[in-house]
Amino acid sequence: MYEPAVDLRSDTVTRPSPAMRRAMAEAEVGDDVYGEDPTMNRLEERVAQLFERQASLFVPSGSMGNLISIKLWARPGSEIICEQKAHINQYELASMAALAGAFPRPISAPDGILTWSQIEAAIRPKTYYISQTALVSIENTHNMAGGTLYPIELTDEICDGAHAAGLRVHLDGARIFNASVALGMSVARLSSRCDSVMFSLSKGLGAPVGSMILGSREFVAQARVIRKMLGGGMRQVGVLAAAALVALEESPPRLAEDHAHARRLAEALAGMPGASIDPRAVRTNIVIFDVRNSGKTAAEVCSALGQFGVLASGVETYAVRLVTHRDVDGKGIERAIRALEEVLAPRA
Ligand SMILES: *Cc1c(COP(=O)(O)O)cnc(C)c1O
Repeated sequence: MYEPAVDLRSDTVTRPSPAMRRAMAEAEVGDDVYGEDPTMNRLEERVAQLFERQASLFVPSGSMGNLISIKLWARPGSEIICEQKAHINQYELASMAALAGAFPRPISAPDGILTWSQIEAAIRPKTYYISQTALVSIENTHNMAGGTLYPIELTDEICDGAHAAGLRVHLDGARIFNASVALGMSVARLSSRCDSVMFSLSKGLGAPVGSMILGSREFVAQARVIRKMLGGGMRQVGVLAAAALVALEESPPRLAEDHAHARRLAEALAGMPGASIDPRAVRTNIVIFDVRNSGKTAAEVCSALGQFGVLASGVETYAVRLVTHRDVDGKGIERAIRALEEVLAPRA
């Protein structure tokens, strides 16, 4: 009997739920470049309310949301402090440099979580012949560090310190809803002192397309201009907003299940001689583990898992990433564990 693949490459692979499909089919739409799409207007109001912000804007991708935010906070030639493995530093095609004229000042943190003292040390002195720091960008949860979390005290300390130094803070909160569930704190509180916020609708929340950015009314008005400049003005986009509105209702309450699945994977991996991982560090929906002891590279492990119908991604030569989400249930997780046991068993 054919079994569909257990796709743990990313939480972006989720497909719209039946309720999302229905909402999309029935969505009331209009031309959003004219501000006339009622469903999109409803989504942008709903998201602003949820985050207790003045305004929000739908963007086609998280990458565009981060770029727009950076472009608005940083002048050409200025620097952006971020973590070394941050999405904006590694996976956005250097758009901050290519399209905003900004320059990354990455700092390495083993768990992806920057401290204020690390950031403070990276702020450039105010000397006219030295490029100036404009922005601090933090990633919560941190994707490539394995879904790690910024405790609220640390986010607040970074925001207060950055503001006192005359800097802005952007939150790359692609998975801020996962952070909210893991920390037991609202998305509004987790982002309250950040000047701008981006989060993804198309990851754990399960909507088919899109991300949102949030900030002051003025920030969002300017962001709308930059979005259009980048070719991101959309017309009857209410079909996407309709799915997003359903995703915002349906999905946050079930993210705890994804976190439990990730923990189950991590605990099983900790017992396999071919894998190295600290399962206590897995607090959200991302599991990154080392496969050196299996005698295989990450690429070899992923290809072997594929033979069992389990899809994973190699993120470094010896590091494999699994991401749990709504389209993989408990049975799928157990199937993945059986495949991992086969593939990671050290060969004599
Ligand atoms: C996925 C992701 C993004 C970008 O989202 P896209 O919609 O894929 O462009 C940004 N930041 C983080 C941390 C992400 O995981």
